[in-house]
Amino acid sequence: MEEVQSQFSTVLYDDLPVAVYTCDERGYIASYNKAAVELWGREPKIGKDLWCGSWKIFRPDGKPLPLDSCPMARALKERKAIEGEEIIIQRPNGTKRNILPYPVPLFNSSGNLTGAINTLIDITELRKGEDKQATLAAIIESSDDAIISKTLDGIITSWNDAAEYMLGYSAKEVLGKHITLLIPKDRLPEETLIIGKIKQGEKIDHYETVRLTKSGKEIPISLTVSPIRDKKGRIIGASKIARNITIQKASEDILRKYTKNLEILNHLGSLVSKVLDTETILQKVTDETTKLTGAAVGAFFYDTVDEKGESVMLSALSGDLKEEYEEFGTPRNIPLFNATFNGQEVIRLEDITRDPRYSKSLPHQKLPNGHGPVASYLGLPVISSSGATIGGLFFGHPSPGIFKEEHEYLLKGIALQAAIALDNAKLYEEIKKLNAKKDEFIGIASHELKTPLTSMKGYLQLLERNLMDESDLIFVKKTLKQLNNLSNLVSDLLDVSKIQSGKLQLFIETFDFHSLMKEILEIRQQSASHRLLFHSPSTPLYVHADRHRMEQVLNNLITNAIKYSPAADKIDIELTQSGNEIMVTVRDYGIGIPKELEEKIFLRFFRAEGLDSHMSGLGLGLYITKEIIDRHNGKIWVNSEPGEGATFQFSLPLNKPVLEF
Ligand code: ADP
Repeated sequence: MEEVQSQFSTVLYDDLPVAVYTCDERGYIASYNKAAVELWGREPKIGKDLWCGSWKIFRPDGKPLPLDSCPMARALKERKAIEGEEIIIQRPNGTKRNILPYPVPLFNSSGNLTGAINTLIDITELRKGEDKQATLAAIIESSDDAIISKTLDGIITSWNDAAEYMLGYSAKEVLGKHITLLIPKDRLPEETLIIGKIKQGEKIDHYETVRLTKSGKEIPISLTVSPIRDKKGRIIGASKIARNITIQKASEDILRKYTKNLEILNHLGSLVSKVLDTETILQKVTDETTKLTGAAVGAFFYDTVDEKGESVMLSALSGDLKEEYEEFGTPRNIPLFNATFNGQEVIRLEDITRDPRYSKSLPHQKLPNGHGPVASYLGLPVISSSGATIGGLFFGHPSPGIFKEEHEYLLKGIALQAAIALDNAKLYEEIKKLNAKKDEFIGIASHELKTPLTSMKGYLQLLERNLMDESDLIFVKKTLKQLNNLSNLVSDLLDVSKIQSGKLQLFIETFDFHSLMKEILEIRQQSASHRLLFHSPSTPLYVHADRHRMEQVLNNLITNAIKYSPAADKIDIELTQSGNEIMVTVRDYGIGIPKELEEKIFLRFFRAEGLDSHMSGLGLGLYITKEIIDRHNGKIWVNSEPGEGATFQFSLPLNKPVLEF
């Protein structure tokens, strides 16, 4: 042992940065340095610890290694240096280190084994780095995104499995090649731009572009490119992560298409829902759907009944080939169309001429000579909410394969809306017819009532003049008053019926409106319960109007003013000139009109609710009044404060006096 120590006495163990220790020929530790103690995590006992100063030893695979099989033991036993056999040592505190031991046997000058010296190289950090790299490599290889690195000159330096899967090239095929291999020609300038940014240390995030696969197919990708730096921080290349966004793009496309379809449906829905005329609906739907499907000809056939209750088929045509089909007639008897008319099915044919079922009844067989057949065909039934098939939509195009499944889907929605619109139009027509019948009845009835009323009035007036008996006279006068009321009501009904049928005639003359008002007020004052106060500059104001109808207007307004102000005792009536118009105001101090009803009271048959019995009426006076004023190019309106009264005003264009002296 002294011999071994003396051999190394000159060596300054403790100054060595690596762990070194010696054993005697039996394997007992003879000396060690500080670095060895640090590495083992313990101080061995000289002459007592065998082979090695460490707590526990393992093989690189983690299995325990018996001390007497450790490299130092083997070097002594086998009398040869052992190199490069990695071991793992464990310290008393549980931490482990990867070690490369270099035990070398020592011999004296006579060749006898005197011991061994072992140098322990700590390679733990190296192994850790390798592990990290292995993890990184595993991540890169298992990634679904293509991860590619390249030099600043664009030479591909790494290529993972996903890159191969996505772009078709194996790593072997592309490593060392230029990245432009993957870039479509029209996008080549992109690369210069990307490299420019990378050189400045910038990162490119989620850049959506297109790359070429080995088979030449273009695929949409989302690209993230980051600079690669060396240890000194210099940029030496770029790493690219490319995600295939084909599915994302496809779903975006579907979403876009879906939204567009909804917009179309919505647009068409609002377009036809506002229309109540059958023919307009048919034409609008045909025009829009023909455009939508790209059809060369589109047709809408609609089964309905005419005024006489007979079944008729209305139709609308649209598209470039529209004229060629105008002579086509009703397609009812053609089996191809019949299936649709019976509501059985939607028929979409890529090429109608190749379909055996329909080849005998092709629409083109009925076309005028010289016109090409229709190849693409689409027909779908239009079914009303009652479930009845009310018609069919048909589309054609000379080229095959024009109509797609999405057209079918879209048209079904449109057909549904068209059916609703057509049902509404039908209802509207029916209501219009009923209304017309009612108006006709009112017209006839009021006309028939007018004649006997007039003669009754004549007889009563005769009686009034000849009767001597005072008490009888009172009854006759009362009867006459009631008869007058009745006659006025019948006249109003007759007027309304004339207005409705556009037969209210005006007999226009030029007269002084001031005189007319004065006359009327004088007559009305005789029997009025209220004071009728007339305010006017008393100069003639000439108008060009129907005198009799103007009397009617004034009488209506005065009657209402009296009728709806039972608690008041006066009515203010005013005539003024304002610019080129005359303005008449009738103001009462009665019950007034709620604001929200001010517009409505001019409607036919409209009466404010809650009027008590002595305020009877049909709700026609103001309707007729407004019609008369409108026909004279005038205006009428009302202002009112409920409980305080109403002010009716109308204006009429003023005419120059006929003669002025
Ligand atoms: P009628 O008087 O026969 O009901 P009108 O067409 O003349 O019919 O009037 C329509 C409605 O307008 C009346 O029912 C009443 O509610 C309201 N109205 C008309 N004139 C007045 C008024 N001067 N004051 C309050 N309400 C009025």
